[in-house]
Amino acid sequence: MNMISIAIDGPAGAGKSTISKKVAAELGFVYVDTGALYRTVGYSLISNNVSIKDVEAVQRHLAEIKVDMQNSNGVQKVILNGADVSDCIRTPEVSMAASDCSALACVRSFLLDIQRQIAATHNVVMDGRDIGTVVLPNADIKIFLTADPEERAKRRYEELILKDPDIKYEDVLSDLLRRDHNDSHREIAPLKPADDSITVDTTGNELEESVAVMLKTIRDRL
Ligand code: C5P
Repeated sequence: MNMISIAIDGPAGAGKSTISKKVAAELGFVYVDTGALYRTVGYSLISNNVSIKDVEAVQRHLAEIKVDMQNSNGVQKVILNGADVSDCIRTPEVSMAASDCSALACVRSFLLDIQRQIAATHNVVMDGRDIGTVVLPNADIKIFLTADPEERAKRRYEELILKDPDIKYEDVLSDLLRRDHNDSHREIAPLKPADDSITVDTTGNELEESVAVMLKTIRDRL
């Protein structure tokens, strides 16, 4: 049976995961957050003191770990060597490690099959940076979701302050700009809109408005 896939790419803090989750629930599709996979690898490298600059050490580490995704009732969990690490991967330190290690070819190819496999067996809304360009080049619909950097940083700051009251907006903005730069300037699978993608800019939109725009865009094309 042919599965339907919707690829949603865009920079950090554009609202990809919140919006994609709601869109997937509305369509009855499985939501796949591919950033969580890169975060899991980044987290594993940090926890084991593996330097991301030492590519051979990273390769050796990848040969020793197992990363899986589980989805139950619309909630995605990432599993590292059998342990649920979904909560440990949402820190600024892990965000940066994910961005740094995601530039390595060995990390990208390590995670490619997991992503393609789930899309081959389920209808998916998959979000990331290279879904429409590399992971699922034949996706039925490709959306590039973006927003102004200041607004993206504000949204991210509001999430992070709940966990860390000392966090500074300026730091969140500079981390986000550094990640955007890393992600869009790397040699392999850089963040960019696929040629056949539709760009949706969520600047100034409330969440529900963005979800409605996305659902209309998708339903018009399915
Ligand atoms: O989406 P999220 O912000 O959780 O992703 C963390 C990092 O993982 C990104 O900054 C990016 O470097 C990397 N990533 C990627 N390709 C994807 C998804 C995420 O390179 N498909």
